[in-house]
Amino acid sequence: MTAKFVDIRQSMTRLEVPDGQTILDAALVAGIPYPHGCKSGRCGSCKSRLIEGEVELLKHSRFALTDQEKAAGMILACRALPQTHAAVAWLGSDDGDVQSPRRVDGIVTHIGDLTHDIKLVRIAPEDESSLLFTAGQYAQVGFNGVPARSYSIANRHGTDGLEFHIRRVPGGAASEHVHNALKTGDKTTLELPLGSSSLRQHHSGPILCIAGGSGLAPIKSIVETALAHGMKQPIHVYFGVRTERDLYLVEHFQALAKQHANLTFVPVLSEVQSSQYRSGFVTQVMAEDLSDLDGWKAYVAGPPLMVEAAMEAAFARRLQRQDMHADVFFTPEELPGLATA
Ligand SMILES: Cc1cc2nc3c(=O)[nH]c(=O)nc-3n(C[C@H](O)[C@H](O)[C@H](O)COP(=O)(O)OP(=O)(O)OC[C@H]3O[C@@H](n4cnc5c(N)ncnc54)[C@H](O)[C@@H]3O)c2cc1C
Repeated sequence: MTAKFVDIRQSMTRLEVPDGQTILDAALVAGIPYPHGCKSGRCGSCKSRLIEGEVELLKHSRFALTDQEKAAGMILACRALPQTHAAVAWLGSDDGDVQSPRRVDGIVTHIGDLTHDIKLVRIAPEDESSLLFTAGQYAQVGFNGVPARSYSIANRHGTDGLEFHIRRVPGGAASEHVHNALKTGDKTTLELPLGSSSLRQHHSGPILCIAGGSGLAPIKSIVETALAHGMKQPIHVYFGVRTERDLYLVEHFQALAKQHANLTFVPVLSEVQSSQYRSGFVTQVMAEDLSDLDGWKAYVAGPPLMVEAAMEAAFARRLQRQDMHADVFFTPEELPGLATA
């Protein structure tokens, strides 16, 4: 086998894809701003049309790419190994061009506790004026001496640097470092903006946001940006956690909902009953409240099983596939439970 050439229509580039590499990996190595999210076949952000040639599709979620979509010539670039020379086109980002990510250095300016296992980390990039991101995007953050990881940006563009919500994963290289050793004044590396699950500001229909745990980070950025830009349509936010001690920023969202009549904020506890909050899986509670999502946009962020359940529930309620924007918080190596292609 030899490397294959793949034409990327939007960037007018011919890419050499080495054996064993996916189209997305090769595109990102070549600096092409290919739209993507989880890089693991779960979110569908890199869905593309295969115009010519053949690819082998690795395991992926059936919600990220359905059998009908495959039959219609769609692929996921993050799961596609070219078998012949090929040509692909990513499905248009419906809010204009995809921005190329930039690398900048940053400095940690604040660390605080949001819950027993989520820290708020604020980072000031060295060159703030050049940092542009869209609400819902993420950055690759490198803390001293540990591998860089993806973290969603939790604040609105133009407000006090970059805010991150970092959950401790037991035994995790980066998150344990953040929880046990990180100090204000520490240097970081940043690569951003990344990801295409970002707020579509031209959309005027209702908005559904579903967050699980630290998945509230991109949802916070999306909601704050939508409200600051005067988006007036109904915005429903469902925030799922296990127990009360996992909740955070509830008062912040409740205060926003008081100021903005179009915002509804619903915390949901999955492991305990409570007189104050709804109980059950966050996706079931959403499904009880909302019966028809045709014409809506959905933004979903959190662990893989929650994202899959949210996709299933939303599509069953007539959400159009192109209106689902999902971020899956997991390392790409971990692919438990995925359907085979
Ligand atoms: C697009 C994107 C955005 C993300 N945004 C955020 C964010 O805003 N906040 C946040 O806290 N995390 C976020 N993550 C997850 C984050 O990038 C790291 O995967 C996470 O912090 C673990 O990294 P680590 O180095 O501590 O663990 P690692 O050393 O990579 O992993 C240690 C062990 O934990 C497992 N593991 C890794 N991640 C998880 C997980 N999330 N849940 C359960 N087990 C896991 C690994 O498989 C491994 O067995 C995001 C991920 C993606 C892909």
